[in-house]
Amino acid sequence: MTHKKYTRIIFALLFTMIWTAAASAVPLASHVFIISYDGGAPYVMKDCDMPVLKGMLDQGACTWEAQTIFPSVTLIAHTSMMTGMGPAKHKVTWNGDEPDKKLEVTTCFAEARKKGLHTAFFPGKDKLLLIAIPDSMDHAECPGYESDKVAAAAAEYIVANKPNLTFVHFAETDGLGHKRGWGSDEQKAGFANADKALGVLKEAVEKAGIADDSVFIITADHGGHKNTHGSNKPEDMTIPWILWGKNVKPGHTISEDVTVYDTAATALWLLDVEIPESWDGKAITNAFNTPE
Ligand SMILES: [Zn+2]
Ligand SMILES: [Zn+2]
Repeated sequence: MTHKKYTRIIFALLFTMIWTAAASAVPLASHVFIISYDGGAPYVMKDCDMPVLKGMLDQGACTWEAQTIFPSVTLIAHTSMMTGMGPAKHKVTWNGDEPDKKLEVTTCFAEARKKGLHTAFFPGKDKLLLIAIPDSMDHAECPGYESDKVAAAAAEYIVANKPNLTFVHFAETDGLGHKRGWGSDEQKAGFANADKALGVLKEAVEKAGIADDSVFIITADHGGHKNTHGSNKPEDMTIPWILWGKNVKPGHTISEDVTVYDTAATALWLLDVEIPESWDGKAITNAFNTPE
């Protein structure tokens, strides 16, 4: 064989290798939406008027037995949700708004943005802005406490910017639990209201033209009982974990153990961003149809 022929074969091989590598790097979804119902106890949510969520449940994958971290409180649990770590590693031990204290570890948003992805963060409580560490967000704002205000701001942003990784937080459901009790009629009305807000987000994703390339991870920071939460009781620790969208196995029941920090890992895995080795969280890959 001549030298020229060898060169041609080597170039052909190289081209094939590069082509294969590029093809396998296509993410399972280009847009991931993490939706958190504050205080979203499955035993209450299952009993609420939530037609949007129930429609997504029918088409998606679900476990009502996912677990949050202890203590089952808002800031510590949301930090786990977004850092892929338990509190022992992320070291957020407080639950109040303490602007002088900083989060010292990376988040799924920081990791996604490092890869050039567009990130957006819409909490219903200011204190969650702790998670918006420097250089991690293209956009982070608390539009207000009410679910409809948060959804309206997020929807407008989604249509205009088509972010790759977005967090939206419905806070009111927790406040109504504290005021009127978990499972009270008032709290159930709050969940129904937050379901309309979820509908607004779903419509925005359709309007943005990215519905075919999106996955929603719908979950909660903790549950609750009577007028409180924070304990290690099952009512406080158990959370929903619902997947809907591209490549999600329809009607699939998630049988593996899911913890709140698996949310961050699953989001990165879907977006084809490497999961940091130090994380406790794992991607829940069995709930998706993955290419061979
Ligand atoms: Zn909470
Ligand atoms: Zn609370």
